[in-house]
Amino acid sequence: MVSPKRSNPVEVAGEIEKAVVRRDLSGRILRKYFGFARGRWYGGSFAAYVIGCNLDCAFCWAWFKDSYDAGVYLSPEDVVERLISAGRTLGIRTLRISGGEPTIGFDYLIQVLKLFTKKTDSMNLVVETNGILIGAKKTLASELGEFSGRNVIVRISVKGANPETFSTLTGYPSEYFDYQLNSIRNIIEAGYVPGRTLLVAVMSSFNTSKQIAEFIYQLTKIDSTLAGSIELEIVKMYRNVERKLRARGIVPYRYLNNRFSVT
Ligand code: SF4
Repeated sequence: MVSPKRSNPVEVAGEIEKAVVRRDLSGRILRKYFGFARGRWYGGSFAAYVIGCNLDCAFCWAWFKDSYDAGVYLSPEDVVERLISAGRTLGIRTLRISGGEPTIGFDYLIQVLKLFTKKTDSMNLVVETNGILIGAKKTLASELGEFSGRNVIVRISVKGANPETFSTLTGYPSEYFDYQLNSIRNIIEAGYVPGRTLLVAVMSSFNTSKQIAEFIYQLTKIDSTLAGSIELEIVKMYRNVERKLRARGIVPYRYLNNRFSVT
């Protein structure tokens, strides 16, 4: 398997932050977005897609995440306004920040959550993260804890069911797999409830059923209720995903074709 070798996703996040977060002349913090879109996730939702991610998963469909020359810088006010107004117009109650990795530019994210929870309690905002930064720094989970009883949901998507697969899929050393597990632990300690305000998913396409079962057992040691709410993600074989997997020599055990039937 040929995955590009990377060293440290926490340091990489710091570098990316310099490219996607800045301040305007009045000192307001801004973050770069590729765009907004309605989607079928969570039974119908509307998302803001950020540019920049500290991982480069072999199965990632978000081709725009590295488009640093594209997109627009938006303030927390701009983004919250766009999300809430789209939610009202479309009659959608679930909004998302995805991408890309939304925890890059963490102070910015906190401002978005503060504004969102102040402006509405009739819609939910799902923050979709790979969890690496939250696992690296427990203080980030504590800051997110401020919104744990509110209309904020954290979704942590684990990249592969064990350290070896994580490394194959992301190109980072296997030890960073544990950062994702730490993020789950930290976010529960910060007050989020599995299956309700914390959603945990695992990319399961590149592991055997036994390995996935072992992963789920590992999760139960963090919190016994996690097993009942874990989401098993299956790679969707978009053309760009297929090309990337082939280039890295990675073959999934199972996948969805572009008509979304199980293969
Ligand atoms: S963490 Fe998510 S956005 Fe980032 S490369 Fe992986 S799948 Fe793509």
